Amino acid sequence: MNLPEYKCEPYTDYTHPKHAAAYRQAIAAVSSQLGQDYPLLIGEQKIMLENKIESHNPCKPTQVIGRVSSATQAHAEQALDVAWKAFETWKNTSLEQRVAVLVKAAAIIRERKLEFNAWLSFEIGKNYAEAEGETAEAIDFLEYYARSALKLCKPIQTYQMEGETDRAEYIPLGVGVSITPWNFPFAIFLGQACAPIVAGNCMIVKPAEDSAVIAYKAIEVLLEAGLPVGVINFLPGLGEVVGDYLVKHPKTRFISFTGSKSVGLYINAEAAKVVAGQKWIKRITLELGGKDGMIIDETADLEAAASAAVAGAFGFAGQKCSALSRLIVVESVYPEILEKVTNKVKALTVGDPLENQYVNAVINLESLEKSRKYLELAKTEGRVTVGGTAASHPETEGYFVQPTVVADVKPHDKLAQDEIFSPILAVVPVKDFDTAMEVINNTEYGLTGGLFSSDPSRLERAERELHVGNLYLNRKITGAMVGCHPFGGFNLSGTDSKAGGPDYLLHFMQMKSIARKV
Ligand code: NAD
Repeated sequence: MNLPEYKCEPYTDYTHPKHAAAYRQAIAAVSSQLGQDYPLLIGEQKIMLENKIESHNPCKPTQVIGRVSSATQAHAEQALDVAWKAFETWKNTSLEQRVAVLVKAAAIIRERKLEFNAWLSFEIGKNYAEAEGETAEAIDFLEYYARSALKLCKPIQTYQMEGETDRAEYIPLGVGVSITPWNFPFAIFLGQACAPIVAGNCMIVKPAEDSAVIAYKAIEVLLEAGLPVGVINFLPGLGEVVGDYLVKHPKTRFISFTGSKSVGLYINAEAAKVVAGQKWIKRITLELGGKDGMIIDETADLEAAASAAVAGAFGFAGQKCSALSRLIVVESVYPEILEKVTNKVKALTVGDPLENQYVNAVINLESLEKSRKYLELAKTEGRVTVGGTAASHPETEGYFVQPTVVADVKPHDKLAQDEIFSPILAVVPVKDFDTAMEVINNTEYGLTGGLFSSDPSRLERAERELHVGNLYLNRKITGAMVGCHPFGGFNLSGTDSKAGGPDYLLHFMQMKSIARKV
């Protein structure tokens, strides 16, 4: 099977009036579909339950996006049985057929990109460009993993023992559980499910509570693309109920998790316990949070650096795992950078992403309250130069946190150490570049990080010593592209599974070595 060479999906530019008008049309079309009820999907059964989780527009919380059935432990049992049964067929389905499903799904999304963008704007508050970035990433994951499977799922050349025929091959693991966060509910949800699937596994997918409607839309795409029922089973529900049960279950072969550090570490510990009836060591991939930093030194292009800092910190209201939240600036350029960053933040528009404002509301009330706590702390740990408030919007009651810059934060302050996941940027002054390097590595996380400098020796030193999974030099630290920037963190940011990288599928396969004499 030959596919055209992989390339990242191009973005549509919504600053163009024609494209912006098309986006608004998609918003109007999707608005007529809001407020519906969604079932669980287990094998061929669509199970609509009384007990549902309501999903809301974070910028206008009275607007219900949809109500998604909330699975129980009994449904988890049922889904595991169905998935293991489906595995018997799916693992023997030809690689070409499995690959074709992903490629078809990518084509469906490409065709209806604006519709999925609009759902993202409604359900989690992404503006046009952010939603476009996510939909394109979903397409990229599907196209990239399809090609990865063609490269990896084939006989492996080994050396030959005399008198034997020796070979090896990758085979799938079995039934896995994918648990995903709300902030990339389409791209991560699809990528994390489809990488194991194309490798021959069957999946139970548990989306985040705040974003289960767009996840259902993703499942519809896969089924339309020809994925057999039972290969993917949609089990939305409470993390601590159905997610927890699946993690601990003896029939779960592997767990693929993206989310917060606290939940990820808990899952890591639970998955390590072998329970009655279990006959394998669970495979686990964890992609967790970050406290991502960027250094600006005195040799940097200060204008470009300030723009990159603002884009990295405030895109999607700072709610990316890769978002900049610690800006570390060498003393001699500190006043200038602070002024530039502050002025650029003042110019950002805050408001409804349906109207394509730059900074949207944070996802829910809990996140608003967490932001308030850190804004309070900002009064003692630093000096707020812009923003500083978090309040429900007077009319819409949306959870808006004003984009905030906190100057003069010290390296060990909570504002410089805790993941806040909100549009709050801590700016840390340091004496010189050497100190900056110490400060940037001084965190329990290690997801993204960066340096702005025009000094080649410093850029080289950062390549060697800045300890993050994704290092960015002289550019913003967000916006990893599938296939170009394999994505995953060091330290407590995760197991560095590198989504969108050449080895990602290997997490979901095991190598069988076969030696034959005569
Ligand atoms: P979260 O940890 O609160 O939830 C993630 C998922 O885990 C949800 O589906 C939730 O229902 C489920 N869950 C919660 N408790 C569980 C339990 N006891 N057992 C099993 N499942 C459980 O995270 P979130 O708020 O949805 O997402 C934001 C976090 O995700 C941030 O920390 C962010 O940095 C991180 N993130 C990381 C990456 C990455 O690639 N490293 C990407 C996106 C988001």
